[in-house]
Amino acid sequence: MQPLIDIHLHLDGSLPYSTVKKLMQIHGIPPMTDMQLQSHLSVSNDCHDLNEYLEKFAFPLTLMQTQGDLELIVFDLLKELKQQGLVYVEIRFAPQLHTQNGLTQTEVVQAAIKGRNKFLNWQIKNESTAPLHANFLLCCMRMKNNHQENEETVEVAKKFLNKGVVGIDLAGAETPEFAIHKYKDLFDKARSYHIPYTIHAGEAMGPESMKEALALKTTRIGHGIRCSEDEELVKTIVKDKITLECCATSNLNTKVFDKLDDYPIKKLLSEDVKVTLNSDNMTVSNTNLPFEYQQLEKKTDLTKRDERQLYLNAVRAAFCSEEEKARLRSLI
Ligand SMILES: [Zn+2]
Repeated sequence: MQPLIDIHLHLDGSLPYSTVKKLMQIHGIPPMTDMQLQSHLSVSNDCHDLNEYLEKFAFPLTLMQTQGDLELIVFDLLKELKQQGLVYVEIRFAPQLHTQNGLTQTEVVQAAIKGRNKFLNWQIKNESTAPLHANFLLCCMRMKNNHQENEETVEVAKKFLNKGVVGIDLAGAETPEFAIHKYKDLFDKARSYHIPYTIHAGEAMGPESMKEALALKTTRIGHGIRCSEDEELVKTIVKDKITLECCATSNLNTKVFDKLDDYPIKKLLSEDVKVTLNSDNMTVSNTNLPFEYQQLEKKTDLTKRDERQLYLNAVRAAFCSEEEKARLRSLI
């Protein structure tokens, strides 16, 4: 199996169905048929845009409000990712979305790390070749009246930096109301703390939002696929070696592209853009990383050589240690 790396995967969008069923039972939620569950968790082909897509996070979030929930979800998800052939993953989530039942952001992160460590111990006992390693990115959110919560997220990231957390992100609805420049102070603070970061941009809002993200000195952009609409921007991204975290199926769901045949990842690779391929939200988008590769091989003639480059780009961009990067490079 070809080793895979995912550096753009949302925890709340990637709950395994079997884990959701376990959690519903734990919390006394009446069982649903698979069809009902699917309509709560995953988008159909007629999803209209990013905002409709984001509605699919409401139900899973109700199942992610205790430390036990979070620990179980992380453990189960990592087991699933390992089966898919992943050797490294950066899982992201917003601690402030898991405090509805009284957890603090610190307790949320502690639970996720505990789930990860439990998985790592399980893995040592069960298998040793090409193990899956995992780190977390903490998302600040584009939402109303949550500046204090976002500031706290940066502080919590500092507290757990290189102890399971390796960076921060800015996620949520891409609308002018939540323009990226309004979050500048958070990323200034992150830089002063030496916390690496990535920013969601260039998905719903296009190249202009990517320029705003670059103005905040980010080295990675979540999605960023719409840079292909702006030649000058592509040149800047190549020159500054900015990594794009591309997620093809998710971009189809949110109608950034009508069909996968038009997905420009191969074109961007040929232009020397540091693109990577990721799954974004496995459950919301009904996908996983092996499926993303298969689809692009079929629809855009992605070759094994391209895939090797995508892998190496992900290693380069990952926020893990140099030692971990050396391990990942040795795997291909
Ligand atoms: Zn994302």
